[in-house]
Amino acid sequence: MPDQIRPVGINVMKEQRFPGLGVSPGVAFGIAHVRESGVVDIPEYEIRKKDVKTEEDRLVRAVRLAQRQVRRLQSRAKEMANEAGEELWALLDAYLLMLDGSRLVRGAEKRIGAQRINAEAAIQMEIAVISEAFQAMDDTYIAARLDDIREVGNRILLNLGKHPLRPLSALPKGSIVIAENLSPADMAQLDPSTVVGVGTLLGGAEGHTAIVARALGIPSVLGATDLIEGVHTGDRVIIDGSAGLIVVNPGPDTLKRLERRRAELDKASKRLARLKSQPAISRDGTVFKLQANIELPIEMKMIGHVAAEGVGLLRSEFMFMNRPTVPTEDEQFETMRHIVEGMNGYPVTIRTLDVGAEKAANAVIGEMDDSVATALGLRGIRLSLLRPDLLETQFCAMLRAANYGPVRILLPMVTTVSEVQQARKILEKAAARLKRRKVKLPKDLPPLGTMIEVPGAALAADALAQVSDFLAIGSNDLTMYTLAADRANEHVASLFDPLHPAVLRLIQFTTGAAMKARIPISICGEMAGDPQLTVLLAGLGLREFSMSPSNIPRVKQRIREMDAVAASNRANLIMDQVDSGRIRMLLDDFNGLA
Ligand code: PEP
Ligand code: MG
Repeated sequence: MPDQIRPVGINVMKEQRFPGLGVSPGVAFGIAHVRESGVVDIPEYEIRKKDVKTEEDRLVRAVRLAQRQVRRLQSRAKEMANEAGEELWALLDAYLLMLDGSRLVRGAEKRIGAQRINAEAAIQMEIAVISEAFQAMDDTYIAARLDDIREVGNRILLNLGKHPLRPLSALPKGSIVIAENLSPADMAQLDPSTVVGVGTLLGGAEGHTAIVARALGIPSVLGATDLIEGVHTGDRVIIDGSAGLIVVNPGPDTLKRLERRRAELDKASKRLARLKSQPAISRDGTVFKLQANIELPIEMKMIGHVAAEGVGLLRSEFMFMNRPTVPTEDEQFETMRHIVEGMNGYPVTIRTLDVGAEKAANAVIGEMDDSVATALGLRGIRLSLLRPDLLETQFCAMLRAANYGPVRILLPMVTTVSEVQQARKILEKAAARLKRRKVKLPKDLPPLGTMIEVPGAALAADALAQVSDFLAIGSNDLTMYTLAADRANEHVASLFDPLHPAVLRLIQFTTGAAMKARIPISICGEMAGDPQLTVLLAGLGLREFSMSPSNIPRVKQRIREMDAVAASNRANLIMDQVDSGRIRMLLDDFNGLA
């Protein structure tokens, strides 16, 4: 990631374009907040009232240290005894003035108490706010002063500790977060009412960071490999999350064009919103169930807007992120109850903890070696079975939430029948424990289902169907593990292809196995939310789709235009193909795009 200090003299206002993967649609205009590399794993933190003084003292010490450092540099500049030395001396003098109660230092001091944030966060916010004000002035002299402020700010940050911390959840309104990489937990901290867009160097389209971006409805472009140069905190930026483009310091023509584009997208989504009260039924009368995937309670609002018929996947791991300790049973129960009650009688499928791989939750895996909870390591149910205490607590919270509406329980990353059996035993144990505690339980235990997202599980779907009450296809991981292509790695984004015949055959086999066993089957990977693929999935026999709420209207529209018998015929034709390019062509042709 570029240094935050902009070299004086370069033309800062030149338009620059960085193509990447458009992972969350929409066009956003805002001000860049650049997050340096190396800090992504450090959580931001709020402070308690009683710690305000300590934090203010830390800032004062860091500022004093910076003053000593600058004075030392100044005396060296004096020794140079030439023009460059004089210039440097004057510059350092300006830095000293800034360190002596300037807006930067005063503003940061105030923020610590007013917003209860750590000193690093306060400095960062103050720089961002000053940058925004200066940017509006459009003056090269001012732009150079901005560089000085950043330089001084960075020096204070360095003095405060090895790693500057950034308040991702407390950025000014209209911010666009630019980072080398954002973890799913980082993305989950963003507040869509203040952060309007995201651009990163790294990341794939189906990784959890992308999924959370879509969930929050924040237009995002990930994997913009060239972003390494030329974007700084305070720059004006446009994120075109539909086309996969980041524009820095856009010129008037680009601004006009992208404003038009945004208006068109808004119009299209308003048109789709009219489908809210319409059922998801194909032209020939086949009924589909469209449910929502959710990560954060904040998404409940969106679910209401699109009239989802339940939650097909609640990714419970997000309750464990961005916090130093694991949530208690009561905390988990409260979050789940809020969601179950909010669904007004529609079912909520709660998945047990799926941390590991790119989904880090320090409270759970913080003390483990990096090589333990990898994509092929202790992920999902594997970790839960090694920590039955955590699993049992989760089950208790789910069972209690099930008193408030229909709940289903889903197990992630299953590979063997015995994993499901062990989990069921722990579920029964949790129920017995609640009974002993005299806690009210639902009449029947919630159905316990298995995610089919590992190729081995898909090939053994018939066996897993015997021990499961329902199956849910996780096409994201199924694609990743089948094709050995990391879903979060932009370098293999083109290999990550859910239309690869191998993936489709596994989906077909799994669907058939569930039907034979007469248990419900759904799909909750990103494929489910792609209207271009609706025909194929419907043609393979799937009727329950769970997706990011924002995709529901488009998929519903596709279903309402579709003929289920014709879809089945087209799926048969597709399943005879060996090449994903040809498969896509056959689909596009059916969808009327060819
Ligand atoms: C999947 O793998 O398709 C899935 C739905 O689970 P997640 O994306 O959370 O891994
Ligand atoms: Mg998965």
